[in-house]
Amino acid sequence: METELLRSYNQKLVERLEARVRELTLANAQLQDLDRMKDQFLATLSHELRTPLTSLLGYLELFDRGMLGPLTPQQEEAVRVMRRSSEVLARQLNNLLYFQEVRSRSLNFVQLQPLDILRPLIAAARERAAQAQLQFEVLLSEMQPIEVDRSAFEHLVRNLLDNAFQYTEPGGRVRFIVRDEPTRLIIRVEDTGIGIPAGEQEKIFLPFYQVDHSLARGHPGSGLGLAIVRHIVEAHGGQIALRSAPGEGSAFTIAIPRRQVAGG
Ligand code: ADP
Repeated sequence: METELLRSYNQKLVERLEARVRELTLANAQLQDLDRMKDQFLATLSHELRTPLTSLLGYLELFDRGMLGPLTPQQEEAVRVMRRSSEVLARQLNNLLYFQEVRSRSLNFVQLQPLDILRPLIAAARERAAQAQLQFEVLLSEMQPIEVDRSAFEHLVRNLLDNAFQYTEPGGRVRFIVRDEPTRLIIRVEDTGIGIPAGEQEKIFLPFYQVDHSLARGHPGSGLGLAIVRHIVEAHGGQIALRSAPGEGSAFTIAIPRRQVAGG
């Protein structure tokens, strides 16, 4: 009698568990669908916005360089503000797009001379430093070729430089240091900017996380830049370190290991 009861109880339990598993499987499939739709939505949105924004940026640059005729000082200032805002927008879009892309693909390692990637980034940074009235110092050592994912490597350096410029007030200094070591390439970006409180230094590498600088000054951003940087560094088997103090500045140091080439 007791065994009978136990069996029927067990049977009910199994049925309930099976029903629950079916529900969870369905919910899981729905979540995966939603996740795919979200990725698709973000990718479409970013692509659709990027094309018109690129042409807007192109024309604003022509105006800014005086190539479309003379501007009054007031117009010059207005164009400069428009250009800066569009650049912020472009950066956010790029990060959004890149965040989607870099998580869903594997790295494509190629051997390249780091300077080929760094030179144009340094040139753009010099221009930006002049505009923002910041000192920009570059210290480079001789560099051997290294195996990295070209676009990821470029994205990583650009993001660190962008942040240094974005979070440093006029009159400050940004320093870009690259040191070649036998087993790794060290990239260091230092600034004398607003700095990051100790309690925030881990969190800034999380996706969409931004320090609340609202008391200091509004800094538009997506909070994705450093999440991407960390992802790229780790995907290269490297490390990232941060030293920062509020009001004094920040230094991000990245080490990218040289990959062992078979037979080499
Ligand atoms: P975003 O700059 O788009 O907000 P990031 O992921 O690049 O996103 O950075 C996350 C947060 O880390 C920023 O909101 C900012 O508060 C802080 N941060 C990043 N770089 C610096 C820096 N060089 N100086 C001060 N704060 C920084």
